[in-house]
Amino acid sequence: MRLIISEKANTAKKIAQFLSEGSIREGKHRSVPHHTFAWKGEETVSVGLKGHVLNPEYPEEYSNWQKVEPRELIDAEILKSISEKGVAQAVTSLSKKADRVVIATDFDREGELIGVEALSLVFAANPKLMDHVERARFSALTAGEVGRAFDELMEVSNDLADAGEARQDIDLIWGATLTRWVSRATKRYGSAFLSVGRVQSPTLVLIADRERERRVFVPVPYWELEVTLKNGEPFTVRHQTERFEDEARAKRSYENVADTATVVEVEQKYATRRPPTPFNTTAFLTAAANIGISPSRAARIAEDLYTDGYISYPRTDNTVYPRSLDLREVLGYLGRVEGVGQHAKRLHSQEKLSPTRGKKETTDHPPIYPTGYASKKSMRDDRWKIYQLVVRRFLATLSAPAKTLRTTLHFDSGGEPLVTGGTVVTEEGWLGVYPYNRRADEEIPNLSEGDVVQVIGKEILFKETQPPSRYGAGRLINVMEDLGLGTKATRPNIIQNLYDRGYVHDDPLVPTEKGIAVAQALTDFASEIASHEMTAELERSMDEISEGKVSKDSVVDSSRDVLRRVYDHLQSSETEFADIVWEGIRTDETIGKCPESGHDLIIRRNRKSRKRFVGCTGYPDCRVTYPLPQRGEIIPLGTQCDACGSPEIKVLGGKRPWVTCINMDCPKKQEQREAAEKAKEGGEGSSTQSAQELQKSTT
Ligand SMILES: [Zn+2]
Ligand SMILES: [Zn+2]
Repeated sequence: MRLIISEKANTAKKIAQFLSEGSIREGKHRSVPHHTFAWKGEETVSVGLKGHVLNPEYPEEYSNWQKVEPRELIDAEILKSISEKGVAQAVTSLSKKADRVVIATDFDREGELIGVEALSLVFAANPKLMDHVERARFSALTAGEVGRAFDELMEVSNDLADAGEARQDIDLIWGATLTRWVSRATKRYGSAFLSVGRVQSPTLVLIADRERERRVFVPVPYWELEVTLKNGEPFTVRHQTERFEDEARAKRSYENVADTATVVEVEQKYATRRPPTPFNTTAFLTAAANIGISPSRAARIAEDLYTDGYISYPRTDNTVYPRSLDLREVLGYLGRVEGVGQHAKRLHSQEKLSPTRGKKETTDHPPIYPTGYASKKSMRDDRWKIYQLVVRRFLATLSAPAKTLRTTLHFDSGGEPLVTGGTVVTEEGWLGVYPYNRRADEEIPNLSEGDVVQVIGKEILFKETQPPSRYGAGRLINVMEDLGLGTKATRPNIIQNLYDRGYVHDDPLVPTEKGIAVAQALTDFASEIASHEMTAELERSMDEISEGKVSKDSVVDSSRDVLRRVYDHLQSSETEFADIVWEGIRTDETIGKCPESGHDLIIRRNRKSRKRFVGCTGYPDCRVTYPLPQRGEIIPLGTQCDACGSPEIKVLGGKRPWVTCINMDCPKKQEQREAAEKAKEGGEGSSTQSAQELQKSTT
C-alpha cells in the first residue's frame, strides 16, 4: 500500500479526489480521517496532519522559571515532543501497512520540515520505508496541479527541512532564554511575563523608535491662503505658495487678492497608470490591510482558501506568472464569478494576453492567483472579500493601463498667482476591475485662458507640520520585508504577538509605555536582538542551509555563541535594565489625577483577592478608589470623560478594545447600560458591548 501524507485533513481529502481512479473508501483512525483509493493500479491511502506533529521544547527539569537560571537554556538539549497525539498514532498505524510513502506537505521550508517530522514517526513504525520515500510538490490544490506533481515525484529535501528546523531551534533558544531573563529581571511572572523574540523584538524597536521620533518632533507653523472663486458653482483655489513661512507674508498676499481672478493658463497633462503586478505575499497582505483585514487574519483566510482549492499557495515571493500557468483556463472559470464575470469574459476573448511582471521571479510557487470558482453565497463575508481581492488582482494584471487627465488652472488676482487642479480617469483600463484605493474623479470648472471669475471669499489658514506617521499593520509588513525581518509566513503572527503581549494597541500601531521601555532597554543592553541586522544575517544563513552550503548545527551553534555574549552583557546590567522597564510599566499604570487630592491615580491590586482597582497615591490620607475590569490590558488615554470629567481608559482584550471612564456613577454609563439592555433584545453595537463587558468584568 502507498501512503500519502499531506499537511491538513482537507488537503488529504482533495488529493484523494484528484488522484482516485474509482471510488474512495472513507476510514478513520480514532478521529483522524483517511481515504483509500486506487491510483495507478495500486492501493493508496491519503491522510492529513494538523501542521507540525512535533514541537521543540526543553526537558521537564527546565520548566520552572524561577528556579532555573535562564542561561542554562542556551545549551540545554531540545526535545521534539509529539504535539498531535491522535495524528501521530494514525500515521504510525498506517505506516506499518505501507510499502511506499509520498510526502505531500506544503512546498516551502516549513512544509518540508513538517514532512520530515512525519517521516520520523513513519520510520520508527516501519524502518523498511526509509528507502521508499517520495515527495510531491504543488502550488495549487487543483486536479491539474496535483496530478502533475504526482506524475513528477521528487526527493524530500533534508536541506530545506534543516533550514526550517534551524529557525525553529534558534527562535526557541533566543526567545525562551531572553523572555525568561527579562521577566525575571523585572519580576514579571505568570501571565504578566514580558516576551522577547528574535524577530518580535526588532519589530517592536521599529515601532517604539517611530513613537519617540513623534514625541520629540517640533511642529513648524505655516500659513496657507485659500480663495473661493465663483463661476456658477463656487470652488476653492490655493495660493501658488503652498506654505507661507511667516504670517505677515501670507497677510500681504491676502490683502492683494482682488475682487476678480483671471485665468492665465490652462495646463493639461495625460498620464498612464500601469496595472499592478501579480500578488506576492507581502503585496497581498498590504492590499488586504488596506481593505481593513489585518495581516494575521488575511493570512489565515488565505490559507483556508488555499486548502479549499480557491486560490494558489499564499506564501510566495514570486511576482511573475510562470509560463506553465494557463491564464485562459483561469479566465474561463472566473467568467461566472459575480461582479467580475464580464471582465473575465472580455479578457478571455482577447487574442493576446499580456500580464504584468513584478521584479522578483522564483520557481517554487506562482504568484497568488485564483484556482477555482466561488459564489458569494457560499462564503462568509471576509473570505469573500479576500477571494474577490485575489480574483480582481489577477484580472487587473491582465488588463490595459488606465489613462488619466490632470488639469491645472492658473489664475491671477491682484498680482497674486492662484492655482487649482483635478485629475479624472479618461480610460478606466484595469481600474475598472480593481477599484481599491481608487480616488474619486476631481471635477474642476470648465474655464479657458482669459476667463474672469468672481472672488467671493478668502481665508488664511494656520497649520503645522506633522510628525512622521505611525506604522499601519500593512505598511509594517512591507518594512519588515525590506529589512529581512521574519518570513512571509511568520510576519502576521509576530505582529499579532506584539498586540497579545500588550506592547502595542490600535492600527496604526501605538506602542504602550511598557512596549517603548522594553524596546529601549533592549536597545541599550542587548543591541543584537534590538537591531534588525542580526536577524537579517540569520535569514541569509537559513538560505545557505537550504542550499546545502552550511550545516544546521554550525548555524545554531554560532547563534548560541552570540546569545551567550548578549546574556552576559544583560546580566551585568540587570538593575538598569529593570529600572527602565519598570518606569514604563508604572507610566502605563498611572491613570490620571485624583479629583479630590490631586495625586496620581494608579492601578493597584488588592493584597488578598489580587483583584485590580484604581487607587490614589495619596493613600492613606486620600481613600479614593475606582473599580476596574479584571481582564484585558488597560491603557490610560490621558483624556477626560466629557460627561463626568474622570480619566478615560482603553481596555484591550475581549472581542474588541473599548474606551470608558473609570467612574462607575458616570451618567454616560447609565445610558450604556440601558443601551445594553436594548441590545439584548435586538442588535449589537460597540458601545453596548462595552457596557456589558464592563458590568461583567467589574463585578
Ligand atoms: Zn486622592
Ligand atoms: Zn464619565
